[in-house]
Amino acid sequence: MIFKLLLLFCLIGLTFSHAMAGMTWPNSTILYRFRADFPDRRRKLVLHAISHVSSISCIKFQESSSNLSVEVKNEFKNECATKCGWHPRSTGRFMNLGDHCDSFILHELLHTTGLAHEHSRYDRDKYLFVSDYGIDNQTCKLNRTNSINFAPFDFGSVMLYRPIPAEFFRPRKDYYDYFYTMGSRYLSFYNTVTLNKYYGCNYGFEGKLCETLVSKPIQSTMNWTEIAVPFGTTVVLKPVKGKTLEINISPESVDKLVQKELGCSYSNVEIKYLEDRRAVNPLYCGNPELHHLLQRSTKNDPTIILLRNHMPTKILGNVSIRFRSQ
Ligand SMILES: [Zn+2]
Repeated sequence: MIFKLLLLFCLIGLTFSHAMAGMTWPNSTILYRFRADFPDRRRKLVLHAISHVSSISCIKFQESSSNLSVEVKNEFKNECATKCGWHPRSTGRFMNLGDHCDSFILHELLHTTGLAHEHSRYDRDKYLFVSDYGIDNQTCKLNRTNSINFAPFDFGSVMLYRPIPAEFFRPRKDYYDYFYTMGSRYLSFYNTVTLNKYYGCNYGFEGKLCETLVSKPIQSTMNWTEIAVPFGTTVVLKPVKGKTLEINISPESVDKLVQKELGCSYSNVEIKYLEDRRAVNPLYCGNPELHHLLQRSTKNDPTIILLRNHMPTKILGNVSIRFRSQ
């Protein structure tokens, strides 16, 4: 019942009941058309998302008036919904972007490629608690055959819902640090990996993405050094070999941006300190349980900090770093 209020979904019933082999678009080219009354301002947002997905994958988008194309429309004002992927016998493809769907466009666009929800993966129960009460179209689990698991489960996936309501849908105890990470509006590295493997793109983009992340590393010293970092940028920290790197994010600078009720979905700081830094590491947006984690080890060299905000802002994040002798 409460899950039915989450009007963000992918119509997977029909398409997933068929073989997954038919799900990718021929020639990696997704056809789309805008319904005539689709507002211009939002048309730009969709085209921006299309350009983003094209830039990180070999998937092409082509405007087409064919009735085989995905019709982008605003017919149902309260729904963000997309018919998943491609199938030879399927017509009536659509992406309905209701009035509150601007920040879900990337999510819906990935549905058009054929991807389902992260919380529908067959292995999701290792990571998520999903109550029986919440099992319906939105939280159903796919079987091993039709689940697309080209990358490890990723709490930062743009295809994962926020844990609302938490009594029915939340990270399992061992993964609770990811509570506020769920519901990201950004394409994660593993979303990119999945898309590219799914479409058989040349798997050489790791280098490309790493290059975009790496800037001139900042060397840590024994004394606290404060760095003012604009949101929307990345900091690369070079720890001293064998020493512990400490990082402290000023909560005040983050507080100005965060809408508490939305968790870290829109504005967040990510410190990539876990061994697998291709995955989205737990996000910080003032969530106090992560304070104790702000002391990081050097097991990830260099350590990368990403500061994100969904809109351009002049607010700076204040990050302090130092290393300790042990
Ligand atoms: Zn969805």
